[in-house]
Amino acid sequence: MVLSNLKKLALIVNTAILLMVFGLMAFFYVIKAIFLVYFSIPTALVYVIGYILISKNRLYGYVVMVYCWLTLYMGVTTVCLGYSYGFHLYCMSMIPIIFYSGYMGRGLNGRHINNALYVSLGIVAFYLVTTLIPVYRGPIYTSDTGADTLFWIVNSLIVFSFLIFYTNLMIKGIVYSEDRLKKIALEDNLTGLYNRHYMLTQLEAPSDKSSDFFVAMVDIDDFKKINDIYGHNAGDYILKSVAETMKSVCENSLVSRWGGEEFLVLGYDKAKAMSQMESVRRAINEADLSFESQKIKVSVTIGIAGREEAESIDKWIQIADDRLYDGKNSGKNKVVYNLEN
Ligand code: GH3
Ligand code: MG
Ligand code: MG
Repeated sequence: MVLSNLKKLALIVNTAILLMVFGLMAFFYVIKAIFLVYFSIPTALVYVIGYILISKNRLYGYVVMVYCWLTLYMGVTTVCLGYSYGFHLYCMSMIPIIFYSGYMGRGLNGRHINNALYVSLGIVAFYLVTTLIPVYRGPIYTSDTGADTLFWIVNSLIVFSFLIFYTNLMIKGIVYSEDRLKKIALEDNLTGLYNRHYMLTQLEAPSDKSSDFFVAMVDIDDFKKINDIYGHNAGDYILKSVAETMKSVCENSLVSRWGGEEFLVLGYDKAKAMSQMESVRRAINEADLSFESQKIKVSVTIGIAGREEAESIDKWIQIADDRLYDGKNSGKNKVVYNLEN
């Protein structure tokens, strides 16, 4: 999450808590819990300072201040009113907040809360102490308004909302990161095709239909010359264009960038291998490619091997590679597939 989003989130949370503080202050006045009325004044001040810290991008200081004060507030209200109001329940939401803040704060000015585990154990200890005091000594202020039940419900709902919100946020973050990492792990950066690593996992995947499979090694002809004449950026553009063409022509096959200017196709219907790869060769050769208004002619040479021709994956690819080099040595811009070999 970028800093501006974090700031927005902090502002929303700060305003929500400040409004709650004023509401509670009024309630404490009604039930004559005078100490809590006075205690609400420094509490409100903390959140006013919060706005200043947020505006100065001092989110770390803000989180630490609010966190400490919320914990204190929770303890003081529990000791004064007893646990029947449910203020102590806020401890539950303090734990995901500290872990999440620590996680989100990584890299912000190089500082982050890295002691979430110890802080949460401290919260648990504080929770036990502040709830056990009213258990043994009774609350300092009592009221027969029945408001405690209402508070219990409202506080429970707020705590649960926090828990749901933060858990949802964390899971969304994990899913987003997983998807991004998966994309990075499986895809080639430049062309968007599958990378060699992913292709190898697919070649090794067991399948009943494996005898119908074929691989085609596709290599751009004289690519070094393209780089030399038109520049590296033009070379990259050609790689992307060839990748696009291959993707569109080999619709039902898996296309990967095997390395440099070589691509490996995994096809599932050996009978169509030759015609499919001939279509690839022709489409690339006939494509109208120009980079910075310079027309560039491109061709590829392709070697095909059926799955049944080799025991191992390495040997299978080797056969396709050997045929590719046969094609290179006999004039390039051609497809070589020799079933008799
Ligand atoms: P052949 O017809 O025999 O295949 O010759 P070639 O020039 O295509 O083959 P060679 O192996 O001599 O050169 C491949 C070139 O591909 C060399 C390398 O600089 C270039 N290359 C590899 N990866 C990239 C890339 O990502 N971008 C660009 N622009 N060039 C690349
Ligand atoms: Mg080449
Ligand atoms: Mg090559």
